[in-house]
Amino acid sequence: MAAKIIAFINFKGGVGKTSNTVNLGAALALDRHKRVLIVDLDPQCNATFWLLQHEKFDAFTAEARQKTDIEKTTFQVFQDALRGTKLFKIQDAIIRGLPVDDFGLELIPNLHLLPAAVDLFDTEFAVNGTALSRFLPSLRNALEPVQDDYDYIFLDCPPNLYYVAQAGALAAHHIIVPYNPDYLSLSGLKILCRQLHKLDEKLRLQRQKLHRNQVCGVTINRNEKVGDAYGTAISQLHSQVDLLKADGLVHPQCKVFHPIRKCVRLAESTSHHKPVLLHDPKSIGSEDYRTLADEFITHFDATP
Ligand code: ADP
Ligand code: MG
Repeated sequence: MAAKIIAFINFKGGVGKTSNTVNLGAALALDRHKRVLIVDLDPQCNATFWLLQHEKFDAFTAEARQKTDIEKTTFQVFQDALRGTKLFKIQDAIIRGLPVDDFGLELIPNLHLLPAAVDLFDTEFAVNGTALSRFLPSLRNALEPVQDDYDYIFLDCPPNLYYVAQAGALAAHHIIVPYNPDYLSLSGLKILCRQLHKLDEKLRLQRQKLHRNQVCGVTINRNEKVGDAYGTAISQLHSQVDLLKADGLVHPQCKVFHPIRKCVRLAESTSHHKPVLLHDPKSIGSEDYRTLADEFITHFDATP
């Protein structure tokens, strides 16, 4: 069966897009034996830096990097679309079995990465009207040859809804919105779902199949039980999602997943270049991501 391509999108930064793709990807690959490809679409390259060791990720940032390194990143997908070249080769670009330990051992063989490069910062500015029709479907086309190799392909989108994120939305079968439980994020959610709905109307013209691509799930990240604020924000989130469903602005089966609690071990796992499940398997972060992985499988098995 072909992979389900799922974009993690929010125009807010710091809400958990990268943490979800890396840790949920790891939980699915490690504990549930799913084959997962993480596609880094953010010029900040957070997923790339998180999963690679220093020596490797320097290749994506250093001035002295090889030209061939950049050709093995998502930057090249879009560059090819803009320039009419065909330098991106997906089978060469995917880094398989991450992370790798100090002895070269692949710690999660089923977890793969298509890295980003900081050069993606310039990509948005290079898109013009004529290139747009080639640009938007370029990611979907680039992923096509490996769709049967994975159960899930996760797109870690930049914190905006510009062209790269739009290409992500067009490539995806489903959208997940990572969310922080606070009042301002709640008002942002409604705006975001409206914008994604408008985008879907626009992108449907580009799709071969006319299926709708709507927000199909919301993850709650960095949940804390301090005072009333978080509990209130979560119950308001459930009500908000019900209203959005009634207005047809999210998928009719859109699910609010069980919250991921705030976890210091998860925050520190980034600097160890490991998903939390490897950094500290007994932490609450690991526990919550295992729960999320189970919920996620059940939800997407039932959502065509
Ligand atoms: P985004 O990709 O949306 O910008 P990140 O996933 O990078 O957001 O998360 C922002 C920051 O919050 C990161 O430093 C990350 O380590 C931290 N973080 C995310 N989830 C948790 C959590 N459950 N507990 C503690 N820190 C978290
Ligand atoms: Mg991120």
